[in-house]
Amino acid sequence: MTSYLTGLIGAGIGPSLSPALHEREADRHGVRLVYRTLDIDVLGVPPEAVGELVHAARRLGFDGLNITHPCKQLVIEHLDELAPEAAELGAVNTVVFRDGRAVGHNTDATGFARSFARGLADAPTGDVVQLGAGGAGAAVAHALLNLGVDRVTLIDTDPSRAAALAAALVTRFGAGRAVSAPAGATAESVGAADGLVHATPTGMVAHPGLPLPAALLRPGLWVAEVVYRPLETELLREARALGCRTLDGGGMAVFQAADAFRLFTGLEPHTGPMFADLGDLAAFPA
Ligand code: NAD
Repeated sequence: MTSYLTGLIGAGIGPSLSPALHEREADRHGVRLVYRTLDIDVLGVPPEAVGELVHAARRLGFDGLNITHPCKQLVIEHLDELAPEAAELGAVNTVVFRDGRAVGHNTDATGFARSFARGLADAPTGDVVQLGAGGAGAAVAHALLNLGVDRVTLIDTDPSRAAALAAALVTRFGAGRAVSAPAGATAESVGAADGLVHATPTGMVAHPGLPLPAALLRPGLWVAEVVYRPLETELLREARALGCRTLDGGGMAVFQAADAFRLFTGLEPHTGPMFADLGDLAAFPA
């Protein structure tokens, strides 16, 4: 039987759904896939140890790794090659070991793009406001501009993060495609937007609540969520109650895993059953 050895490097990844998503999908293909978590907090090593861990995994015969917070940028200098999306983004969430080389990919961006195409394909894409300019926010904003959104307005409680991401996006996509706005301008920005993308941890069990006042939502605004635990966040509940078109964070989670599974194994993932798995697994709070 063909077998694969894979894993995830990051901090605080004990509750990750990735092992179950990958192993269940491998079962459906009749191949054996083992997915281990290599948690730097548990190992007691700093984020910079990602290079050593990637090196060790390669020597131990791993086929690939997922990489998450806080190692997505730090891993780059330890790789032989980057796929175009990862090179543009400057962040890697998937490493494939093949023919003696370690190649970095970014399936967060492709995952969000596929989820958007599935759930909001015909939504208006003039002006989009995105809350959150961290790791997920960088991948999502990149995907939005690749999808043809005219302009993304980035708002983060840490204004320097929004400004830095806007500057990086303008370099890649051109003047005017991304701007940053202060948190105080949220009402004005959302009022003029076609869609709202949420890319902060607000709405998770550890960060309950709404990332913006509910009064700023209106029926014509579409709302895309990145949080997927729970799948139905307070933001999505409020937006759906008003009749907004919505996209939950589960699609990005499934498609980033599916795209990584394809890279690890060369097999075409069954995304339908992966969505069902995510629904089961995300029902338990992280
Ligand atoms: P991060 O810490 O790198 O970034 C979060 C950013 O949000 C920070 O810059 C912070 O200053 C900002 N922020 C926090 N509250 C805010 C608010 N109310 N308004 C504006 N900005 C605010 O975190 P991350 O890695 O980007 O993850 C964010 C969320 O995305 C997490 O909940 C994570 O689980 C989720 N995520 C989902 C997927 C998926 O596949 N669906 C993938 C990656 C991350």
